Amino acid sequence: MAPEIGTDLERAAAHLRAGELVAIPTETVYGLGANAFDAAACLTIFETKRRPAFDPLIVHVRSRAAALELCHDVPREAHALMERFWPGPLTLVLPKRAAIPDIVTSGLDTVALRQPAHPLTAKLLEALEFPLAAPSANLFGRTSPTTAAHVAEQLETGVAYILDGGACSVGVESTILGWEAGACVLYRPGGAPLEAIEELVGRVSPAQRRILPAAPGMLAAHYAPRTPLELGDLNALLAQHAHERVAVLAFERARPAFASRVLSRSGDLAEAARNLFAALRELDASGAERILAEPAPEQGLGRAINDRLRRAAAARTGS
Ligand code: AMP
Ligand code: MG
Repeated sequence: MAPEIGTDLERAAAHLRAGELVAIPTETVYGLGANAFDAAACLTIFETKRRPAFDPLIVHVRSRAAALELCHDVPREAHALMERFWPGPLTLVLPKRAAIPDIVTSGLDTVALRQPAHPLTAKLLEALEFPLAAPSANLFGRTSPTTAAHVAEQLETGVAYILDGGACSVGVESTILGWEAGACVLYRPGGAPLEAIEELVGRVSPAQRRILPAAPGMLAAHYAPRTPLELGDLNALLAQHAHERVAVLAFERARPAFASRVLSRSGDLAEAARNLFAALRELDASGAERILAEPAPEQGLGRAINDRLRRAAAARTGS
């Protein structure tokens, strides 16, 4: 049965208290939430998304104080980052306390924590007695949802309720940071720009530790539309695929094609990020044989956009 969509916070809370799944709006993308203290409820997140058990979930908290109850040995930089970026699109990976079940962290001794900024989900977290484990509310490996309707499209069963908070204001997942040998490292570029983070904590290195013991191609291929996607210089790609029915995902300037979307006509990276996943879905549904996309400038939110596009393109040659 298709999940019901609405804005009833009490209803959402009741389902979550009963160990059921509720899709929640956040400023990044929609999440598929469960009581983070309830291992059985969290297991159903993996089943519903068809997500492999080795891919850990992010735990969403109502406040910094609530986050600090779930972790220990918090570096000074992490406190500063929470103060500056929370609530907001930044996730911090920190040593976990026992209250978080192992299934949430895929057996890791660290937990990913974030305080989301969306007002509806902030209110929901205030009302609940527990934090919410929530990965993106899509099938594993597929395009992330930025509206309630996107969630309903992909997750037809297993979701008790979809809390409708409108279109996501950031539109790409959170930036994920952690600490390795005392140094701050980047696990995933996202909604909090690296430049602003580095202004606060100094240089952030690429992560050395691999989180997922994944098969080759598994990690690389993600966020994928069903239609093959190629990323590169649009003029060259258009020439190369001149005899195909192609859809074009342009950053700033439209090109004639069977179907096309422009992420931001003014070249604004925040607007482009906001439009990215919905544009990918629309082009995927256009009936084109192939999606041709160009990268955004590699700065600010452009890093997150390009990361998602590279993974969407990798799905073609990957698994
Ligand atoms: P999603 O919410 O679907 O965007 O996925 C959450 C992502 O957070 C995972 O795929 C991991 O990359 C990352 N993550 C969650 N927990 C941890 C952790 N303990 N250590 C490192 N990365 C994590
Ligand atoms: Mg995801």
